[in-house]
Order: sequence, then C-alpha cells, then structure tokens
Amino acid sequence: MPSQKDPDMRVVVLGAGLLGVTSAYYLQQLGHEVIVIDRHATPAAKARGRVETAVTAAAAQLLRQSAARRAARAKWLGLYVSYVSLRRRFAKLLDRVIGEAPKSKPIEHLVRLGAYSRGIVRSLRDEAGVPPGQRNAGLLSFYTDADAFNARLARASHWHALGCEERLVSAEEALHIEPALQALRGELAGAAYSLDDPATRDPAQFAASMVFLCRAAGVRFLTQHTVISLKERAGRIEHVELLDANGQPTVLRGQAYVLALGISSAMHAERLKIAMPFRFLREYIVTIPLKDASRAPRVALRDRQGKLRIRRIETTGGDCLRVSSTVRASLDEENEPDSDRVDAILHRIESLLPGAADTAHASLQTAVHAVSRDGLPMIGKTRLFNLFLNVAPGARGWINACGAGKSIARIVSGLRPEFEFAFRNP
Ligand SMILES: Cc1cc2nc3c(=O)[nH]c(=O)nc-3n(C[C@H](O)[C@H](O)[C@H](O)COP(=O)(O)OP(=O)(O)OC[C@H]3O[C@@H](n4cnc5c(N)ncnc54)[C@H](O)[C@@H]3O)c2cc1C
Repeated sequence: MPSQKDPDMRVVVLGAGLLGVTSAYYLQQLGHEVIVIDRHATPAAKARGRVETAVTAAAAQLLRQSAARRAARAKWLGLYVSYVSLRRRFAKLLDRVIGEAPKSKPIEHLVRLGAYSRGIVRSLRDEAGVPPGQRNAGLLSFYTDADAFNARLARASHWHALGCEERLVSAEEALHIEPALQALRGELAGAAYSLDDPATRDPAQFAASMVFLCRAAGVRFLTQHTVISLKERAGRIEHVELLDANGQPTVLRGQAYVLALGISSAMHAERLKIAMPFRFLREYIVTIPLKDASRAPRVALRDRQGKLRIRRIETTGGDCLRVSSTVRASLDEENEPDSDRVDAILHRIESLLPGAADTAHASLQTAVHAVSRDGLPMIGKTRLFNLFLNVAPGARGWINACGAGKSIARIVSGLRPEFEFAFRNP
C-alpha cells in the first residue's frame, strides 16, 4: 500500500485538467515524484479556454431561429420557465422513487468541499502568490419564489455551521447591493450574498497559475501523450500504455496512479470494473454585448428560479454579459442543443435587466459536462490498491479542484483528508 513512508514514490497522474494539475501540485508538496500525462500540448487546456467547446454552426442556427420566434412567444415565457422548473423537480422526484438518489445529503458534502476549497484558494493566493484574478463585487443568488427563499432561510444556520459563507439578505438589501435588479422590485423574495467568493473569478488565470506552480515545484508534464489503457495485475495497476506524439506506443510505470481524465475516465474505469455512474449536463453559454452599462449588474448573479448564472465580463469587443444555464441533457440534447432554451434565456435576461444588453447580438456556445449521478465528485480509493480517482468536480469545478486535489494527495499518501466528505472507499 502506498503510504506517507514512501516520500519518493512515483505517482502518475492521468490527465492534466484542473483536477489532475491540482492533484499533482499537492502530491509534489507531499514529497512524491509526480508525472502528469495529457493528450493536449498545453496542461489544463480546457480550463484555460484552449479547447473548442462551441457547437458553432448549430449555435448560429439556433440564434437565428430564436430571433424569429421570440417576439411571438413572449406571452408563453412565464409558462415555459415554470415548465422547465417543474420538469426538473419531477426528474428529482423520479430519481427518488426509482432509488437513484443517494442516501446521504450530497448538498452538505458539497458545502463542506466548497468551504474547504475556498480556504485553500485563499491560502494559495497568500502563500504561493497565485494572483487573485479579476474581482467581481461579490455573488448574489436571488430568489423570486418566496417558498424557495424560506426553505433556504430554514437551512441557513445548518449550512453556516458547515462552512457556507453566504449571508441572507432581504429583497430591499439585495436591490441595494445590485440596483440593476430594480425591475424585480415587488417580485424579489430575498437573496444570498457572498462578498469574496473565488468562484466569481477567472478559472483560466487560476489554471495557468497552478501549472506554473507545478512546474516550479518539479512536477513533470508528459504532454501530447494519449492514455490507451491501464494494465491490471494482481489487484494493482502495473503500468499504463500510452501513445506518444508520433503515435508510437510506450509504457509508463509508477507506484500509484491518479485517474483524472475527466469524462474519458469512465471508459477506463469500466474496463477495470470500477463503477463510475455519470449523467450529462448541457451548458448554454450566451454572451450578450452591453447596450447600457448603467443598467448592467456589478455583482455576479445567480437567478435561482430562472436557473441562470450571470456575470459581467470584459472582452476585446467591449463589456458583455456572460449568461449560462445548465440543464440535464436528454438523449437528443447530448447531440443537439435545444432552441427553446436559448429563447427562454434571452427572454429572462430582457425581463430581469431591461435595456442592459443587446440580445439581438447575442452569441452562443454550448458545452456538455459529465457529473456523477449523485452530484458528488468522485474522489478516493478504488478496488485496485494503487489506483485513485479524482473525477467530476461539478459546476464549481475549478474551485472544488483545490479541495479535491489536496485530499486525493493525502489519500494517496496514506494520510487522512482534512475534512469530512463522501470520499470513495471500495
Ligand atoms: C455546469 C458546469 C459548468 C462548468 N463550467 C466550467 C467552466 O466554465 N470552466 C471550467 O474550467 N470548468 C467548468 N466546469 C467543470 C469542468 O467540466 C471540469 O469539471 C473541470 O474543468 C475539471 O475538469 P477535470 O480535470 O476533471 O477534467 P478535464 O478538464 O476534462 O480534464 C481532463 C484532461 O484529461 C485529458 N485526457 C482525456 N482523455 C485522455 C487520454 N485518453 N489520454 C490523455 N489525456 C486525456 C484531457 O485532455 C484533459 O486535459 C463546469 C462543469 C459543469 C458541470
């Protein structure tokens, strides 16, 4: 069994996404020799925006259809938003009835992971000089449904005890924090506000800093190498088979292996008979140029009922709103985005922030993300004693990567993680 007593153990990290890179950094900090394998030329390419996620032609087509239909559909919007949230609730209920829902409460584990990870991001910032990144004036999660806000209020002290930093504020205070939401006066039930949430900052800058820290600490990156298979022998991984940049097969051995290949991890896990139940989410990312900056939000917003995340960003073409919405990808949506959803997003923005953004010139990207079926990142041990998992961090992936990376480094080293979480244990 790998343990803290093997300080110069060679650990092979499979995948240089954010999870692989943060795992590598903390493994190196614990004294191991660390090699990270990735098929891309640049580590953390996805988080640094160097991998194309747009479905460009399909997205352009959707926007054209959307513009033509939106005017005619306005009166159905309210109904549509209700339909989408009803469908989500029904999906959760169905999961519960057919027994898919986990028995523990995933949200509590996620709150703890988030709190632990935020602490690590801050200490990296202070100790290792990771730059703070472009700062927003906080994150405001607002509720237009009084029942939902009351339910959040009822959980407030419990979540606070778990490390949640959000402060619950009245509708009036929410409008004071973000005057751009004036159109919601009378409709707003309240909000949760956090002033310094690292999640509102730029993941690309964070990823670049982590790669820099890794290299400075001595982590080796074997880029343009594709993992073909993990070879099992006598209850352990004996070696990994790779293809190098020239397509030549090669073999790499280590004493321990961390599987952090993102969604590609599933294929390898399945071959090794390790359960990795995923479901897919499609993220719609709409970028809308600002029309009137004085009506645009200063803080990052989370629209709890419309299920939107709204952030003001700077682009070379000027300031924009970046709006994203995530839905369960049904089978057809795994291949094709749904134009109704684009309509709903643009309508919702027009009603939340009237006059702020030029929705006629919106652009659309979509991305498919894999999350575990119970919504919890898969961090921990497998049935093979020297193979460990760090997969599926979820929507707050880049922040949670820090907590996940430090924890898996401790688990690989035979140390206890520093907080309570549903770590995988075969
Ligand atoms: C709703 C939602 C929104 C999100 N938004 C963002 C966002 O805006 N920005 C962001 O960074 N993350 C976002 N995420 C999180 C993101 O999906 C990832 O979870 C996160 O970036 C960490 O990823 P990872 O390291 O697990 O996987 P990945 O980033 O996918 O990294 C896996 C790495 O493995 C490599 N790899 C895969 N297969 C092989 C192979 N066979 N051989 C060699 N290398 C291989 C890939 O090249 C890649 O570098 C979002 C997630 C959700 C659910």
